[in-house]
Amino acid sequence: MSQNHFIEDTLQIKDPNIICTSIDSSDPIKQVVHAKLTYPLENCPLCGQPEVVRFGTNLINVRMPPVKERPIILKLLKQRYRCKSCKHTFSAQTSLVKPHCQISEDTKQMIILRLIKDRSVTDIADELNVSPVAVNRVIDSLSTQTMIALNTLPKTLCFDEFRSTGHQMSFIAIDGDSHQLVTVLPDRFNRNIKKHFLNHYSLKERNEVQQIVIDFNAQYQSVIREVFPKAKIIADNFHLVQMGLQALNQTRVQLMHHFSSDTREYRILKHHWRLFLKSYSNLETRKPQWFTHLKDWFTQEQLILKGLELDPTFQHTYFTAHALVDALRTRDYQRFIEALSRTDKVSSQLETTIKTYRKHLSLIKNMMASTYSNGPLEGVNRKIKQIKRTAYGYRNWSHFYTRIRIEFTIQNKKRKPIRK
Ligand SMILES: [Zn+2]
Repeated sequence: MSQNHFIEDTLQIKDPNIICTSIDSSDPIKQVVHAKLTYPLENCPLCGQPEVVRFGTNLINVRMPPVKERPIILKLLKQRYRCKSCKHTFSAQTSLVKPHCQISEDTKQMIILRLIKDRSVTDIADELNVSPVAVNRVIDSLSTQTMIALNTLPKTLCFDEFRSTGHQMSFIAIDGDSHQLVTVLPDRFNRNIKKHFLNHYSLKERNEVQQIVIDFNAQYQSVIREVFPKAKIIADNFHLVQMGLQALNQTRVQLMHHFSSDTREYRILKHHWRLFLKSYSNLETRKPQWFTHLKDWFTQEQLILKGLELDPTFQHTYFTAHALVDALRTRDYQRFIEALSRTDKVSSQLETTIKTYRKHLSLIKNMMASTYSNGPLEGVNRKIKQIKRTAYGYRNWSHFYTRIRIEFTIQNKKRKPIRK
């Protein structure tokens, strides 16, 4: 292969002003390519006078993308020029590498591609023969490019929180329809959430927001009423269901501890806890199955009934909790109200949940009338968790935030293997 072919085809150097002079493959660890960058220059780029003369050269070591995992160092001899008129000196320029930089632009592009794919900084640095600091510098350079446009707000917002740097909880908002990131804030304090939206959006823009989905355990309601006066607050379906099932589960555990651990009653309640959380109508009623811990055959329904027989309060709690949860799941407000009217003799845990439901009934009614939920946020949060795991924790919030934006805003097209 001729030297210039290697430069053009393998290294993909398209600048015609770069001429390869020799290739040194003697080192098994790296390959060194010697090249020269020069072109005729008549007029001075600073003063415009046709007084430019050649003025020596300047050697730089450019790190190119590795070929077959072997690092490539391009020893580039850059022509220097001097203007006789204004006495300035300057180097020849190329799109291959920015002035005062030793990492080629191609390498930087490859860093970005790997960042989108959630690879760790040290991993990328290792593969592309650059330092982790250089990778972090690319992350910083993407910070403004991936900034979220601050001039419009979507009709539907979903608010949630996630565990971020250290033990801090951070605030996140996404568009309920497109699932695009709207904002991520380092903490979830009401005053900071308020400050963010008031500082970045006009009242007219904030009035565009028609509904906001929240987990109503979070204390966002007062901020929402103040900042988004036109928005309806919708309780998140998933959290409501969780609350009901959690109360039922706590009731089961409490009852279980009334029995000693070597009893059959204990085993019924202990080992088949998942079945108690399953909707009664979904239980298998005909086919018996072998229950190892009880050494007997039952249908799922039979097993549940055996558990419910143990205590009348548990029984009432079970049926009430499931009636509420089923109504929430099917977004049937009428059924939910009916279930709320038959809540006597339930456990204290479920009573607390019911009190909370009653207190926020208007938010639940809004939820029943809409199709939105914070479900899409679960996916977003999972991805953020993944980003955190790849990086082994971020101490620096702004790096972490930029990394989140890189992975969410720069589109990563999935490609199938190219076979032909
Ligand atoms: Zn000049």
